[in-house]
Amino acid sequence: MQLNFIANQSVPAQGGQTLDVIDPSDGQVFEHIQRSQAADINAAVHAARKAFEGAWGQLSAMERGRLLMALSRKVIEHAAELTALEQRDCGKPTRQAAADATALARYFEYYAGACDKLHGETLPYQNGYSVLTWREPHGVTGHVIPWNYPMQIFGRSVGGALAAGNACVVKPAEDACLSLIRVAQLAAEVGFPAGAMNIVTGYGHEVGDALARHPGIDHISFTGSPGVGTLIQQVAAERHCPVTLELGGKSPQIIFADADLDAAIPVVVNAIVQNAGQTCSAGSRVLIEQAIYEPLLKRLGEAFSRLQVGSAAMNLDLGPLIRASQLERVAGFLEQARLDGITTVAQGQIAAGVPAGGFYQAPVLLRDVPVMHRLAQEEVFGPVLSAMAFENEDHAIQLANATHFGLVAGIWSRDGARQFRMARRVRSGQVFINNYGAGGGVELPFGGVKSSGYGREKGFEALLGFTTLKTVAIHHG
Ligand code: NAD
Repeated sequence: MQLNFIANQSVPAQGGQTLDVIDPSDGQVFEHIQRSQAADINAAVHAARKAFEGAWGQLSAMERGRLLMALSRKVIEHAAELTALEQRDCGKPTRQAAADATALARYFEYYAGACDKLHGETLPYQNGYSVLTWREPHGVTGHVIPWNYPMQIFGRSVGGALAAGNACVVKPAEDACLSLIRVAQLAAEVGFPAGAMNIVTGYGHEVGDALARHPGIDHISFTGSPGVGTLIQQVAAERHCPVTLELGGKSPQIIFADADLDAAIPVVVNAIVQNAGQTCSAGSRVLIEQAIYEPLLKRLGEAFSRLQVGSAAMNLDLGPLIRASQLERVAGFLEQARLDGITTVAQGQIAAGVPAGGFYQAPVLLRDVPVMHRLAQEEVFGPVLSAMAFENEDHAIQLANATHFGLVAGIWSRDGARQFRMARRVRSGQVFINNYGAGGGVELPFGGVKSSGYGREKGFEALLGFTTLKTVAIHHG
């Protein structure tokens, strides 16, 4: 039985209710978490406030950095344990779960080093004045985390918030809590003061909603679906609480005829099959210049047919999807494609010997997907790649920008001037040229435009969002 972690104590939900934790590889219940309610959030917010006004808030930036560095090392020491937890909880192949644990440690390391480099400025003003700005923490920050990359998203969101001096209340996704509860325990072990990092588990519409509404939360970092992002924003607006929204994507990979296709193909495939396509920045649309459309589709199809799906422990190209409803959702998209006459180029295999009851979906490559079709517009959040052809740069941009999303884009071309023209015109928070980093890059500011959200996490830029600026004007004559 897993408990909440509030004020450095493992505590049950006050209401005494629990939720099942299901292993996506076999569909079996293997653990239980707390089904918390508003009272538990209230306790966590009070613990965080006490920490912010007390032991945590009184630490210097250097001391916060040392604690974060100690936590980074502790995560590395416990990487095998965290990998095993994440693998079972989320169905991630061992390789992916291990990469997530490494990224978590790296986020804490990066933000450890950043703590004492965050500073304000002095500003020119009228004679007789000195004016300076201070970057101050918001106070108590709320973090609502999705299930697809719990450790990575916790690292980037909570790591940045702690570095800036905030105390954190975290609501993991109900499907993926185990690694984060353990990380909070490790934080207590390395000396984080009680209340600096609190974890409260439960359903989004219960405890997530309570977190967003709590008047003691000074800033909300939400990563999840656009629909819930809207709800959080509405709730937060009632008390003018600032929000960072990291939402979904329908990110295009744009491949010109002059691209290095040998380099592009494995990256394009990985960008949609990594984490079984359950990645906000998955490259879920591939736009291919007409001249190479047929030969490239053939090569992509060959790569897709070699892909193998298996249990997390089998550590194949893809693991299972997170839960039965996600599998149904992906199957629904594929059925719609079939009904609408969209052609499947190729699909991968579910490996022999996968445990019964797991949520396995073979990766699928579709061709000639009409630009306004659901498969080209909506987030499938599964291993489904939609291909379409373009005639020239203008057409590629028209297709690339034709969704409500704008998270990441990939551009593949050897023409340097074209690379810049395209990068300027595509509407997204990140652009990768001749590479693609679905979820990667601790140092790289990340976030969206349009319905992909606003605000930036990762990199130093995130620290600006986790602080508020105070201007101090001194009249000294
Ligand atoms: P989700 O929106 O269903 O859930 C995200 C979190 O919000 C969970 O912790 C959930 O419990 C909570 N939640 C649900 N309802 C809530 C409510 N009414 N009030 C407060 N909290 C609530 O998303 P998901 O299915 O867990 O994750 C997949 C989505 O997340 C996809 O759309 C994906 O693109 C997006 N995502 C975005 C990024 C990014 O950085 N842009 C990263 C990862 C995932």
